[in-house]
Amino acid sequence: MWGVPRVAKPIGILGGTFNPIHLGHLRSGVELCDRLDLAELRFIPCAIPPHRPVPEVSATARSEMVRQAIQGAPQLRVDERELRRAGPSYTVDTLRELRQENASTPLCLIMGSDAFGNLTTWHEWDQLIDLAHLIVISRPGARPSLNSRLSQLVRDCEVNDARSMHHAASGLLLFQELTPLAISSSEIRRLVGAGKSIRYLVPDAVNDYILANGLYQEKPP
Ligand code: ATP
Repeated sequence: MWGVPRVAKPIGILGGTFNPIHLGHLRSGVELCDRLDLAELRFIPCAIPPHRPVPEVSATARSEMVRQAIQGAPQLRVDERELRRAGPSYTVDTLRELRQENASTPLCLIMGSDAFGNLTTWHEWDQLIDLAHLIVISRPGARPSLNSRLSQLVRDCEVNDARSMHHAASGLLLFQELTPLAISSSEIRRLVGAGKSIRYLVPDAVNDYILANGLYQEKPP
């Protein structure tokens, strides 16, 4: 419409180790594209996780599994910027880069409730909400108690309407209940290591990639 500034649709950002990516990540991404009317959702595999040991599976292989998993889903993308950066993959650095590239576009940083419960341990955690909205998705089995700083963040920033994300570039917090899928990468690694099937927990292409490359196999003693 004439006279009304056009605001770009929000970009969703889902960072993780993706070791490997599974249907819990993918279904959450698709549902959030619809719920929040996102322009796109970017999976951002981390190279060097700040809070856990560096995975045995390389960042390149983890990213390749993401790429194969999202084939044919036009709104889902993989963004490899953390693979190109040296040092720990801090989310705040990633958001600063994205903000430089998208000055006024709403950015939605998505995380599971387990990750949100640990947010105050993240590098420069209090800068995140200035750079992006936070979208916290329920995760089966994860109901972390929130410390006083997170409770304050919720009181200050929580909104209930997904549409609000379109009217500001950052600064809001939204909880979303999605289809609960009790799938985790660690359980997938455990199953593969035990010689069990992971079919229908991951896309077929990811299943095939893991088997073809012998990932997550128990090492002989
Ligand atoms: P691991 O079991 O190795 O800890 P993970 O399954 O939690 O891995 P990550 O790559 O660490 O996978 O997760 C990336 C993000 O996706 C995190 O914010 C996490 O909370 C969220 N997430 C992972 N699995 C699910 C799920 N089944 N439902 C909702 N959110 C999820």
